[in-house]
Order: sequence, then C-alpha cells, then structure tokens
Amino acid sequence: MYNEPIFLRPVFKEKIWGGKKLRTVYNYDIPSEQTGEAWVISAHPNGPSVIENGPLKGQTLAEAWESHGELFNKSVDNNEAYPLLVKILDANDDLSVQVHPDDTFAHEVEGVPYGKTECWYVLDAEPGSELILGHNAETKQELEQMMANGEWDKLLRRIKVQPGDFVYVPSGTIHAIGKGIVILETQQSSDMTYRVYDYDRTDADGNQRELHLEKAAAVTTVPHQIPEFNQEESVSVDLNKRKLVQNDYFGVSLWRLNGHVEQTMKADFLQVSVIKGDGVLSLGEKRFAIEKGMHFILPHGIRKFELSGEAEFVVSWV
Ligand code: ZN
Repeated sequence: MYNEPIFLRPVFKEKIWGGKKLRTVYNYDIPSEQTGEAWVISAHPNGPSVIENGPLKGQTLAEAWESHGELFNKSVDNNEAYPLLVKILDANDDLSVQVHPDDTFAHEVEGVPYGKTECWYVLDAEPGSELILGHNAETKQELEQMMANGEWDKLLRRIKVQPGDFVYVPSGTIHAIGKGIVILETQQSSDMTYRVYDYDRTDADGNQRELHLEKAAAVTTVPHQIPEFNQEESVSVDLNKRKLVQNDYFGVSLWRLNGHVEQTMKADFLQVSVIKGDGVLSLGEKRFAIEKGMHFILPHGIRKFELSGEAEFVVSWV
C-alpha cells in the first residue's frame, strides 16, 4: 500500500509577460526575471512535473499515471490522459486576450484529448488590478465584426480583482489575466489556446504574435454567460473549507487551517497546493513538513490524513 504524499517539482515557463514574483514571493529557483508560469501539478507533455519523494522519486507524474494507475483509482480500460493541471501565473504585464475550446471542438478539430475549462484563485493583485472576462457582443456576427474592426474597448468586459477572489472561466469564455496579478489556476490538462488580441504588441524583431480569430469566434459562447456556481462553506473549529467550484471536470476548494484536523478522503485522489503558512501533514505514523509553495497529491488508498499548523491550501479533485 502506497502511504505517502506525492510531492511534485514545478516546471517553469518563461513568458514575455512574466516577472520574478515566483522567486520573490514563492522562493522558486526560476530561470529568469521573465518567468510567467510554474506548472506545479502537471502530467501534460509540454511540462510534466517530476516526483520528488518515495518509491516513484524521479518519475514524472505522467509516467506514474501510466504505470501506477491504482494511485489515482484509474480503471484499467481508461486510456485517457491525466485530466487536470495546476499552475501559478505571475502576470508582470497583460496576458493576451484568449479563449479555449470545449472537449468536443478540441477533440474533433485539434485532435487533442481535452478542451480547457479553467478557474483562478487570486493569490496576489496590485491595487486596481483588472482582468478581462467575457464580452459584450449579442450575436456571433456582432462578435466577428467587433473583432475584425478591432473594437476591443467596446467588446471586452473588464473586472477588478483583489487577493482571495475566485474567477471561473468555462471553455468558450474570452479572458485575459491583467498586469500585477498572481493566480493559482486549476484547469483541464490542455494547452489549446486561441489568441484573440495581443494589444498590438511586437517582439524585438517587430513581429506580432499570431492571432486565431476564426477559431476563437467559432468557440466563443455568445452572448456571454455569467457562470453559476454554488459556493458551499463548511466550518469546523480548526478548518474552514470553502468550495469554490464543482463542474463536470473538477472540484476546487479553499481550506484555511488553524490548529489540527483529521480528514477522510472522499475523492479518488486529492491535489493540494500550499499557498500560505506552514504545518505538518501526517499519514499514520509518518509526518511530512509542508510550507507555502509546496504541491502534492494524496493518492488513492489513503483513507485518513491529518493536518496541523496555520496554513491555506487550494485543493482539487476529479
Ligand atoms: Zn486561459
């Protein structure tokens, strides 16, 4: 019986909009001062996390998913890819405006297993930070016209955010993370993005990044729908759990720990990101020190675990 958490090492991505907060705030050993993304729980071929401890140390999460399906309660006839991906993004500049396809479009048009529904927990935001979520077109035709005419201020909806906010971005929702925002993103394991607008930015050679307006218009939900999601809160003496979202793909909760709790596993496996504080995770007699910036999976087979300390976690499951 596998009785250990699976700690994962992040994979970093340099981006033109990236910064250095992944080092200054999270203490990660980032490759440059333009590091935009840390893929912290990833089995995606474009950046799989490596297991840091236990019998599977040195393997990627993708390899563990293939060879040790029992750790995820994966059925033997399940040939699908690991379903989820967790990232931390540091937007030192505005990200391009984009939209993602749903599963059907991703599969039929792009030949990849998953579309992308995602959600963001805002870890940090400079005062006045804004992001883009949704659009103001009433019909597809109007959407295409406004895109073609570059009427971005009229088309795009902007919202202000602050640390602790939660933003749900179902596939088909036009969106962009704005400058000064750091988020933890939980998403389907997909890298399929259609760029709508890049603020007419150019690189050192004077070239603009490619846009994908036709596919973007095809997958965008029109008119914009404000998604509904019930947020339940469960409060015990030492642990406050707030469910942020639950959909067909994943559930995400915010846990605030202050003291000591015992928890029973209900999901097949749990993905856990420590976003604040520190403490101890106990599995029977085994103890593991945990602190902000660590990410781990509690595999299937663990029935109970204990947490103590003062810390915050973003927890997700299938
Ligand atoms: Zn996105």
